[in-house]
Amino acid sequence: MADSIELDGSNLAAETRLLRESVRAWLDEHLPVERVRELDEARSVPVELWESLGELGVTGTLIPAEYGGADGDIRLDYAVIQELARRYASIAAGYMVVSMAGKCITETGNDAQRQALLPGLAAGRDLVSFGLTEPGTGTDMNGLRTSAKLVDGSWRISGQKLYITLAADARTILVLARTDEPADPARPSDGLSLIMTSTDQSGVEVRRLRMAGLRGAGTTEVFLDEAEAPEDAIVGERGQGFRALVGTLNHERILQAFMALGIAEAAWEEGRDYAIERHAFGRQIGAFQAVQHPLAESFVDLEGARLLAAKAADVEAAGRSSALEAAVAKHAAGETAVRATDRAMRVEAGFALTEESDLMRHHRDARDMVSGPISNEMARNLIAERCGLPRSY
Ligand SMILES: Cc1cc2nc3c(=O)[nH]c(=O)nc-3n(C[C@H](O)[C@H](O)[C@H](O)COP(=O)(O)OP(=O)(O)OC[C@H]3O[C@@H](n4cnc5c(N)ncnc54)[C@H](O)[C@@H]3O)c2cc1C
Repeated sequence: MADSIELDGSNLAAETRLLRESVRAWLDEHLPVERVRELDEARSVPVELWESLGELGVTGTLIPAEYGGADGDIRLDYAVIQELARRYASIAAGYMVVSMAGKCITETGNDAQRQALLPGLAAGRDLVSFGLTEPGTGTDMNGLRTSAKLVDGSWRISGQKLYITLAADARTILVLARTDEPADPARPSDGLSLIMTSTDQSGVEVRRLRMAGLRGAGTTEVFLDEAEAPEDAIVGERGQGFRALVGTLNHERILQAFMALGIAEAAWEEGRDYAIERHAFGRQIGAFQAVQHPLAESFVDLEGARLLAAKAADVEAAGRSSALEAAVAKHAAGETAVRATDRAMRVEAGFALTEESDLMRHHRDARDMVSGPISNEMARNLIAERCGLPRSY
C-alpha cells in the first residue's frame, strides 16, 4: 500500500529508490514489528543495529569516500530516515544525529578531526552526540551556562546538558560551551565553541532518561565536571561554535520533517487498514463518512508535507540557504504527524489503547516532532521574520 501514497517515489532518482528498498529489506530482517515493540518497551536501540546499518552503507551517506562514506547528499539520508521512522522512530532519531555528526565534521572539522571521527561514523562503529540543550536553555541558546577554560593546554569543561540523544553509547560528544565572553553583549552566541569531548573520562557522567516518547532513542542527561579536551578539539573556529552548527541545524530540521512523515505515514496506514477490516452496524467502519473524512484529511496533510519536505531537501542539496524551507517543512510535517496519529487513534478507538496496536507509540513519538529540534512556535518566529516581520525573539 505504501507506494500508492508515496508520490515522491516517482520523482526520486533510481539510487534513492534502491536505497529505500534496501532499508525496507533491512527493517524486515532486523526490526520486525514484534521486535520493535520489545525494544521500545526496553527503551533500547542495541549498538549492533548501528553496526549493521553501517554494513548496509547508510551511516555515512554524506561523508567523503576517502573516509569510508558515500559522498552523497541529504536526499539519500531523507530516504533512509523516513523508512526507519515508519518502523521505529527511536532508531530514526538516532540516525538523525549520526547524519548531523557526519555533516558537521565533514564541513567544519579539520583534517585530524575528520580522520578521528568520520571512518568510525561511516562504519556505524562509533557514535557522536550533540550536547547543546541545558536545563536552563533549549529554544533560547543565549542562556547557555556550560563553560570551558584553558588550563595547561587543555580545556576543562563544566556544566550540564539535557535530552542528549545517543550520549550513553557515543564515544564523543560535541559540547557547546562558552570559551570567551562576547565582544558585543547584544550577540551572546559569540564566544561559544563546539568542543569534541571524549565520554571515556571521569569528568563526564551520562544518565539515561526514562522518556515517554522516542523511548529507545537513548535520550540522556550529561554532567560535565572539569571534563578534559585537548586545546585543538574545537570544531570550526574558537568562539564561533554556533556558526559551525548553523548548516547542520537546517539539515537536522529537514531530516526531522522526514522522520515526522515516516511516523505519520505509518499511523495513517494502520488507521486505514483498521477502517477496512473492522465492521460495525453490519458494515466496514471505513464506509462511514465520519471515519473516511479524518483519513482523507490526513492524506491531504501528508501530500502537502511531503512536497514541502522534498522542496527543502532540494534547496539544501543545491547548496543554497534552506533556513526558511527547513522551518516550513519541519513545522508542516510535525503538525501532520501529531494530527495523523491522533486521527488514526480515533478510528481504532479502544483497540488503539491496546499493546497490539502501534498507534500509541506513534502518537507518543509524534509529540517530539512539534517540539524538537526547535519547537514549532520557534519555527513560526523564524518564518514570520523571513516574511519581513520584526524579529520577535
Ligand atoms: C527526544 C529528544 C531528543 C533531543 N535530543 C537532543 C540532542 O541530541 N542534543 C541537544 O542538544 N538537544 C536535544 N534535545 C533538546 C531539544 O532540542 C529541545 O527540547 C528543544 O530545543 C526545545 O527546548 P526545551 O525543551 O528546553 O523547551 P523551551 O525552550 O523551554 O520551550 C518551552 C516552550 O516555550 C516556547 N518558547 C520558548 N521561547 C519562545 C519564543 N521566543 N517564542 C515562542 N515560543 C517560545 C517553546 O515553543 C515551547 O513551547 C532533545 C529533546 C528531545 C525531547
